[in-house]
Amino acid sequence: MPKRIVILGAGESGAGAAVLAKKEGFDVFVSDMSIIKDQYKELLDSKGIQWEEGQHTEELILNADEIIKSPGIPNEAPLIQKLIEKGTPIISEIEFAGRYTNAKMICITGSNGKTTTTSLIYHIFKSAGLNVGLAGNIGQSLALQVAECNYDYYIIELSSFQLDNMYQFRANIAILMNITPDHLDRYDHNMQNYIDSKFRITQNQTDEDAFIFWNDDPIIQEQLKKHGIHAHLYPFSIEKEEGVKAYVDKDKVVFSEPIAFNMEQEELALTGTHNLYNSMAAGISANLAGIKKEYIRAALSDFKEVEHRLEKVARVRGVDFINDSKATNVNSCWYALESMKTKVVLILGGKDKGNDYTEIEQLVKDKVSALVFLGLDNSKLHDFFDGKVEKIVDVTSMKDCVEQAYNLAKKGETVLLSPCCASFDLFKSYEDRGRQFKECVNNL
Ligand code: ADP
Repeated sequence: MPKRIVILGAGESGAGAAVLAKKEGFDVFVSDMSIIKDQYKELLDSKGIQWEEGQHTEELILNADEIIKSPGIPNEAPLIQKLIEKGTPIISEIEFAGRYTNAKMICITGSNGKTTTTSLIYHIFKSAGLNVGLAGNIGQSLALQVAECNYDYYIIELSSFQLDNMYQFRANIAILMNITPDHLDRYDHNMQNYIDSKFRITQNQTDEDAFIFWNDDPIIQEQLKKHGIHAHLYPFSIEKEEGVKAYVDKDKVVFSEPIAFNMEQEELALTGTHNLYNSMAAGISANLAGIKKEYIRAALSDFKEVEHRLEKVARVRGVDFINDSKATNVNSCWYALESMKTKVVLILGGKDKGNDYTEIEQLVKDKVSALVFLGLDNSKLHDFFDGKVEKIVDVTSMKDCVEQAYNLAKKGETVLLSPCCASFDLFKSYEDRGRQFKECVNNL
């Protein structure tokens, strides 16, 4: 009898995992509490994979030998609790896919900068002509690509939820951008749990592997020893510090290992301090993969910004509009504000994940001329910001939000959507929020 694998959640990762499991000869069943998208139903049907939607039938699930769980399903879900009690192994799609490929794995995690850095690395590898796939939270699932493609490298964006269910997977190059509070609601409001989850990116690494990280992150520094890392360390920093392998020296970004080269800061396609970090992490990983410096330089300078990440939308009668809808925590908003060169009308609000706004307080006082709160419940924002910024308005639709922000902004100012919060109170997703923002701006 083949082993039975049950996949919980039939989104991109679940559907891909099912296809790979079927290909590898397992008895496969897919179960999703919500309605499965048509494209995934068609994919499952085309491979003869059984599935159910709108329910979890326990008799068909509790008999599994192994479970592949979507990162979106929390451990507290009653079904997951039952499986844990039974001792059924629960893994992530990435863990599963990793078993069936010998490709080199370049994995990126962190509280902020994952998608940007992942996309940058993919862009460099691709422009250098390598046979490379992009996976994780972006694009097609790793499992589907492992089933159907034959790449030599995968560039994989990993969230802490994916890392939580990874055990044997080994990253040849692991990148940890930073650690700031995020998703604490899923980690018993315990920061150490979240930190440990991020550090799982280094588990199983050997001395043949590389660990790239931001040297100036106090949390990473403090935790490095505790996590007993075997990989070679490749720290990067904004300054030339002892041991760093990439840093900024006046107007130059300097890469020192394995091949030394540098490039003008001005040549980088992405601007702002946070993007210097993202570019350095990407440059080191490409350097480690043996990509020639000419390719790295060219790709770091012709990269196109990623949608919803400090994306320039338009200038309307002297007011610039910037879509940073992906800034779903306080730290990413900090970097957005820090990179602003003008006074800002800042749009905040949505579903708060346990935010502490102290981190942006000073920048808001220095740079923000008005605040627009876009959310169903703005009480926490009012408690913190009332009295600190002269003008504050509340809105519950994007149309209102953009109109009010436009009215409040003086010529030469910037309207910045960098909301610090998830979008689910008023929007389907951060992409939906960002697109509605752009549409409303373009209709002004
Ligand atoms: P993630 O995938 O980790 O959510 P993104 O690359 O999508 O990160 O960027 C999300 C937001 O975080 C951006 O809009 C930007 O404001 C901010 N950001 C990007 N890179 C960094 C970084 N290295 N450090 C801090 N904030 C960043």
